[in-house]
Amino acid sequence: MPTTSDDCIFCRIVAGELPARIVRRDERTIAFMDIAPATYGHTLVIPRNHSRDLLEIAPEDLHAVASAAQSIAARASERLGADGVNLINSCGSAAWQTVFHFHMHVIPRYADDPLRLPWVPAQGDPDEIATAAAQLIG
Ligand code: AMP
Ligand code: ZN
Repeated sequence: MPTTSDDCIFCRIVAGELPARIVRRDERTIAFMDIAPATYGHTLVIPRNHSRDLLEIAPEDLHAVASAAQSIAARASERLGADGVNLINSCGSAAWQTVFHFHMHVIPRYADDPLRLPWVPAQGDPDEIATAAAQLIG
């Protein structure tokens, strides 16, 4: 039995208590269609076990989600004719997470789709980059 959280909508989808268009299942994950798709075929991959986010998910579940996401990406390419795929995970509300059960967005991309990068790439401050590197290195 997966670990669950009482008021989690994705746990309720795992349990079959809420409807979802499930497209892939394995022992650790399910994948289902996002109800508000960014593009045609936008799918969510989630672990059956409840975990809040990237910082909490067990490594085995994260590996299983990554593998399932790769499988959905291949289907998007082969069956939907996607020209590319974005995998997106939001960790924390500051990063736009709205459902607090870990999920990976698999977003098929099409050459003419309307999605754009959420930031404007610009040359960074080398000192600031070095400072951040010093904090992150290890
Ligand atoms: P995030 O903002 O990264 O937490 O993404 C949450 C995603 O879950 C959004 O893209 C929603 O459209 C999607 N979503 C929320 N409720 C459901 C549901 N019941 N079935 C399918 N997708 C959902
Ligand atoms: Zn949950």
